[in-house]
Amino acid sequence: KVPPNLTNEPVKNFGINDQKDWDLLRASITKFTDNGALEIPIVINGEKIYDRPTKPQVNPSKHSQVLANVAQASEEDIKAAIEASKTAKAKWASAPWADRAAVFLKAADLISTKYRYDMLAATMLGQGKNVFQAEIDCIAELIDFFKFNVKYAEEMYQQQPIESSPGVWNRAEYRPLEGFVYAVTPFNFTAIAGNLVGAPALMGNTVVWKPSATAALSNYVLLQILEEAGLPKGVINFIPGSPQEVTQHVLDDRAFSALHFTGSTDVFKQLYSKISSNVAEDKYRDFPRIVGETGGKNFHLVHPSASVDHSVLSTLRGSFEYQGQKCSATSRLFVPESLWPEFQTKLGAAMDNITIGNTAEPSNLQTFMGPVIHEQSFDKLAKAIDQAKTDPELKIVKGGEYDKEAGFFVQPTVVETTNPNHPFLTTEFFGPLLTAYVYPDAEFENIMETIDTATKYALTGSIFARDRDALRLAEEKLRYSAGNFYVNDKCTGAVVGQQWFGGARMSGTNDKAGSGNILSRFVSVRNIKENF
Ligand code: GLU
Repeated sequence: KVPPNLTNEPVKNFGINDQKDWDLLRASITKFTDNGALEIPIVINGEKIYDRPTKPQVNPSKHSQVLANVAQASEEDIKAAIEASKTAKAKWASAPWADRAAVFLKAADLISTKYRYDMLAATMLGQGKNVFQAEIDCIAELIDFFKFNVKYAEEMYQQQPIESSPGVWNRAEYRPLEGFVYAVTPFNFTAIAGNLVGAPALMGNTVVWKPSATAALSNYVLLQILEEAGLPKGVINFIPGSPQEVTQHVLDDRAFSALHFTGSTDVFKQLYSKISSNVAEDKYRDFPRIVGETGGKNFHLVHPSASVDHSVLSTLRGSFEYQGQKCSATSRLFVPESLWPEFQTKLGAAMDNITIGNTAEPSNLQTFMGPVIHEQSFDKLAKAIDQAKTDPELKIVKGGEYDKEAGFFVQPTVVETTNPNHPFLTTEFFGPLLTAYVYPDAEFENIMETIDTATKYALTGSIFARDRDALRLAEEKLRYSAGNFYVNDKCTGAVVGQQWFGGARMSGTNDKAGSGNILSRFVSVRNIKENF
């Protein structure tokens, strides 16, 4: 039984008086930085393999600082990981449910207590988060995924056929998938990595895990916590390496039975089509399950009746927290003409207070915005900002500077466009770059049409209004424009168990992380009918 006190993990405030928390956090940060780069192995069947070529993981705030040297899996390693996941399968799949659940409940407990500051430090250093963004990610959300998944799985296992004729007993058996699961995890949330490997494993599957190169440190800390919590050898095999190479070998294996993915739409499309053509060629025993959460071009639509102060603050947070590097981040803004002057002034003033720098600098852990994750991301954003300086349909109304000398820093930037279909309103930049379009007040209904059709994405979006008719109309007209729709709230920050997360269209398969739905993708149900 799940502990009855199942609630969302409380977030630590890190207020000015929480000296002990700050001290412990500083100690964890310096432990990672003062002992030289950590050697991160490949882990196959519980065995740690170090003697391989490595790739550095650097601190994106200070790219001269190498945090870890990450072993890169060879072709043999990838094949060995696949074999290990097959071998470990039988025992794990038949382990009592409580044993599997206990691993994740114990890991949740270890994260909350013993390893909280190490998890925070690893996520802050490697992924450029401030402590508050790290708390909601690698502590609260990660713990919630582990605990709520146990609860949801237990509810699912109890669902049984509701009819039986006299002399007949029908029952449903929730088997793990027959092969193994491939988890491809993103840099931006340690919690998502945990859920992508944790959800299938909880259901009795074994996993080949390809972590993101820029999140290897926090992901490896997490793997060690799972091991300490009792995860058996071979259940989750950790294979950092070339994404193309790992993917190729995994997808070519006959026992591949599910992809659990979070990342870009383009990569997901490639994997999806490779899997489909392999299916067509009868390469697999099963039709693999394909579960993916991908990109977004998420909107805030402000109605003339909206509170300007509230929609400004929400936009500031939705667009610039974690440097706009959430799939859910606000990246297009629609404001009516009547409110724009006040909106723009207030947003600009609030942005003047944003501090940017090394969010994991022990002597100053109060910086609001850190770097973007790596040079490619920085270069893409810098190029877009340069374009905004010359394109006649674009105007930078705030920000517009960038600097990669020490770290990959991009100023929070707002660009206004005169074209509601401009590529800036359709392209995902994955950074602190917000594009605004100012619409005539009378065009509220038409602008919703544009919001709905201009992009291929449908992840998150928000309507801000006091007028109830406007709210209802937006909910109706934007029905398929977002998998997570917010009314008078920012479009980021879904909480496990509260807002089930996921989008449709080119934003993903919408299987809803943080709900029980996703777990059903990792079981293969057998119906058993017995005559008495
Ligand atoms: N679940 C997160 C949120 O609601 C975003 C997840 C992501 O970036 O993939 O903000």
